[in-house]
Amino acid sequence: VNAVYTVTLGKVDGGALSAIELSLWQAFGVEVCGMPALEEPTYAYDQQRAQCNSTEVLREVLATATSDALRVLAVTEVDLFIPMLTFIFGQAQLNGRVAVLSLARLRQEFYELPPNGALLCARARKEAVHEIGHTFGLTHCADQSCPMSLSNTINHVDRKGEDLCGGCSLILEEQMKHIRTDTGAEGKQ
Ligand SMILES: [Zn+2]
Ligand SMILES: [Zn+2]
Repeated sequence: VNAVYTVTLGKVDGGALSAIELSLWQAFGVEVCGMPALEEPTYAYDQQRAQCNSTEVLREVLATATSDALRVLAVTEVDLFIPMLTFIFGQAQLNGRVAVLSLARLRQEFYELPPNGALLCARARKEAVHEIGHTFGLTHCADQSCPMSLSNTINHVDRKGEDLCGGCSLILEEQMKHIRTDTGAEGKQ
């Protein structure tokens, strides 16, 4: 099978993970399966920042991805960063195979507010579609309601919707045609 895999890095909220898997299936029309869990990315931990370096996490996830994984979304509760930014909600390889999403700043608790499971799931769905969208070649979208628009703040995550805009849907449709042709050709070898 050529499926999109999810893999947890350390312990991850089960409800949010199910919501992510469903949203990927709905947005990209591909089979979504869970890979065996990986450990928390302590190898990428930056003591001074008390966060994990997302680029190192992506490298490790790519190394563990099996050949039948069309794409892999790693999901973690640890807070992520890239050196030039204070934090990131997630990171993806554009047109690559792997992406990572952190639930840390999608939680109300991070902002010293009471936990809200439904809100966590809604945010996780949008950001999961965003990151896997990048791996399927989608870039940042100017439509503020599209999940492919760039979110630097949690308020913006909440403002955007879960469904790809018309423009992104068209681009995705084209990309998926190529991907299907590629994988079809591989199967014949
Ligand atoms: Zn992005
Ligand atoms: Zn869009």
